[in-house]
Amino acid sequence: MLVIMRKGSTEKECDAVEEQIQRMGYTPLPVSGENRTAICVTGNKGPVEAAFLNQMPGVLECIPVTKPYKLVSREVHPEDTTVLVGGHSIGGATTTFIAGPCSVETESRTLAVAQKVKEAGAHIFRAGAYKPRTSPYSFQGLGEEGLLTLKRVRDEIGLPVVSEVIDTSLAEKVAEHVDILQVGARNMQNFALLTKLGELKHPVLLKRGIAATLEEWLMAAEYLLAAGNPNVILCERGVRTFNNHSRNTLDLNVVPLARKMTHLPVLVDPSHGVGQRDRVRPLARAALASGAHGLMMEVHTHPDTAYSDAHQTIHVETFAGIVKDASILSQLDPLFSES
Ligand code: PEP
Ligand code: MN
Repeated sequence: MLVIMRKGSTEKECDAVEEQIQRMGYTPLPVSGENRTAICVTGNKGPVEAAFLNQMPGVLECIPVTKPYKLVSREVHPEDTTVLVGGHSIGGATTTFIAGPCSVETESRTLAVAQKVKEAGAHIFRAGAYKPRTSPYSFQGLGEEGLLTLKRVRDEIGLPVVSEVIDTSLAEKVAEHVDILQVGARNMQNFALLTKLGELKHPVLLKRGIAATLEEWLMAAEYLLAAGNPNVILCERGVRTFNNHSRNTLDLNVVPLARKMTHLPVLVDPSHGVGQRDRVRPLARAALASGAHGLMMEVHTHPDTAYSDAHQTIHVETFAGIVKDASILSQLDPLFSES
């Protein structure tokens, strides 16, 4: 249930409502919004008795929340959320481009790629220092050395950085060096990791699990918000289906629906979604046309020699073309308006 406070209600009145929710055996979670102050009641197993809360000073109304995910839903938070990262705002009316190699590589090569993707229009640089690989014999990432390189990208090239955190024990260390913590598809339901990143409050990019439904994905995001972190960005990256003509099946069906269900920004990663360099651009166009708030792509100056995922890594010139595609697509009428 959501308790909506009257305009001009006092802090004391809000505190009293939170205390009453606690007395009823539930957990109150304040929800910030531009136009209203609200308190979400969580931890209830059945319907919450609203009568007492309804007549408390400062309370405008109590509305039931029908979805199992609450804090991520538009019922609780109607306006689009934007996540501010190094001066760039992700979500709302902005189209965000995240680009860079699959993995952090040598310092000089990584800095050179970062400079080029910045010139081509990237807002944020991507590269994994810790790589979750299917095979234990594949390149596992440069680890701490990679984090130091990412810090140099941030400081010297001036691009905010996103990189994956694969384990709770690494969360603080990765957060010190990067602007956004990526939760990879394989960890989408690592609830200990989600809770830890919720507590850290550092921006999180949550990739959709390899076989996760929309509801499971949103519930994973709910873990982050319930633990206190409102800075969450979703990223569709393809799901496993019967088809064997692409690495995954990029599920663009999910984009307009996710945008309807949640206020969180929704990005698309066509690189992992399709898995072949020549098809990334068409899927990138389609993702933007379906209403994505932006794209995350594997981009390199020398894609054939990328340390990992070379076959799906596009050249920086192709990336520049996608940025141009986006400016043409942005002339279409917006599919969604805030709430
Ligand atoms: C990645 O973006 O580097 C990655 C490993 O992606 P995913 O978790 O979607 O496979
Ligand atoms: Mn990759």
